[in-house]
Amino acid sequence: MRNKTILISGSSVAGPTLAYWLARHGFRPTVVERAASLREGGYAVDVRGAAVEVIERMGLLTQVRSLATETERTAYVDADNRQVAGLTADARNGREGDDLEIMRGDLARLLFDATQPEVEYLWGESVTSLVQDADGVRVTFEKAAPRTFDLVLGADGLHSNIRGLAFGAESEFVKDLGYYVSIFSTENHLNLDRQELCYNTPGKLAAMYSANGNSEAKAQFYFTSDKLDYDRRDTKAQKRILAEAYAGEGWVVPQLLEAMWDAKDFYFDSVSQVRLDSWSRGRVALVGDAAHCASPLSGMGTDLALVGAYFLAGELKAVGGDYPIAFARYEQHMRDYVAKGQKSAGDNGKWFVPETKGMIGFRNQNIRMLQYMPWKNMITGGASRAAKSVDIKAY
Ligand SMILES: Cc1cc2nc3c(=O)[nH]c(=O)nc-3n(C[C@H](O)[C@H](O)[C@H](O)COP(=O)(O)OP(=O)(O)OC[C@H]3O[C@@H](n4cnc5c(N)ncnc54)[C@H](O)[C@@H]3O)c2cc1C
Repeated sequence: MRNKTILISGSSVAGPTLAYWLARHGFRPTVVERAASLREGGYAVDVRGAAVEVIERMGLLTQVRSLATETERTAYVDADNRQVAGLTADARNGREGDDLEIMRGDLARLLFDATQPEVEYLWGESVTSLVQDADGVRVTFEKAAPRTFDLVLGADGLHSNIRGLAFGAESEFVKDLGYYVSIFSTENHLNLDRQELCYNTPGKLAAMYSANGNSEAKAQFYFTSDKLDYDRRDTKAQKRILAEAYAGEGWVVPQLLEAMWDAKDFYFDSVSQVRLDSWSRGRVALVGDAAHCASPLSGMGTDLALVGAYFLAGELKAVGGDYPIAFARYEQHMRDYVAKGQKSAGDNGKWFVPETKGMIGFRNQNIRMLQYMPWKNMITGGASRAAKSVDIKAY
């Protein structure tokens, strides 16, 4: 086996999955994560089709099932919290059969635990430069001493640092879809029982769903916006943006915004997709959102991250670490699947966040009719079908 020392940037979904499989295949991965410890929080993510198989091969299926959110229903409500339309959570999120839903933070924790104690982690650290030559990649860090690795893999998300260092400016690859998303944990003050409530006004969605066995809730917001200029590390500034965007809105929005100021796991980002012609440059490759973010509107970002990490590690093993061949094969496995995942974001924005009162009414009318449609699975099962469209080969 050649090229055994591998640096992975990012420890969320793609990073630890990659580290797990690389370690299992005989490589020596090191993970560098900018956060001081494993990041909690985030929304409920769907794990479908091929990604369920990856989880099963990691021996984590029982644990993922035991942490599944079990959200049963989504109700669309008016300002007085009266239901105007509703459907099952599976139908809303396009889940079928063995598909699962789990909180991102719970999944990241399970994946990280599966890499212990074999994998080395550098917390609160970030790569500052990469210089490749025929023998390896010389890496400098913000704090730690420089090191040389055989390969560097970027699993550091939509705003990937590794992509910026090895491929070029984010503006070349990131396409904003015209929305922002925010989510944070809050008290379950509506006593929601495995339920999600969504409240729309033109161009805005505010939602709340129970989590962790109804012991808490997640507040979630999507709103239409042109590109916003803000510091991605300045959480307070992001909270101010959200507060301004929702000022004067009804339903329980004022209570949620008040709780927001104390939220420890506040998440805010643009809803964007990443498109690159190639996911590797020499000894550096990208995986997960860093390579091909499909956006939360696709509901497939986690599937793509799990499956991509599995193939990348597997192909490196299959060719004894011969990375140009492995990187090319990894892309071959993933390209069509990623295209389907990105396509599945489609017009979901218009469905989640209708831009006019008329469109909100039209959407609600469609939801009310959905249960009577014999072909309803054709309409709601798109993501599930896309998630099954790739074969997980054994390595
Ligand atoms: C805390 C958190 C909450 C999230 N919540 C949502 C949500 O509510 N809705 C949604 O659609 N998506 C959310 N996501 C993104 C979602 O997890 C991904 O779309 C998907 O699961 C693919 O995962 P990924 O591992 O490729 O990327 P991500 O999950 O984005 O993980 C990237 C990781 O890289 C780390 N990182 C970033 N920069 C550096 C750097 N310079 N050096 C080292 N590490 C770095 C990040 O801290 C993070 O741990 C969230 C991600 C995180 C980290």
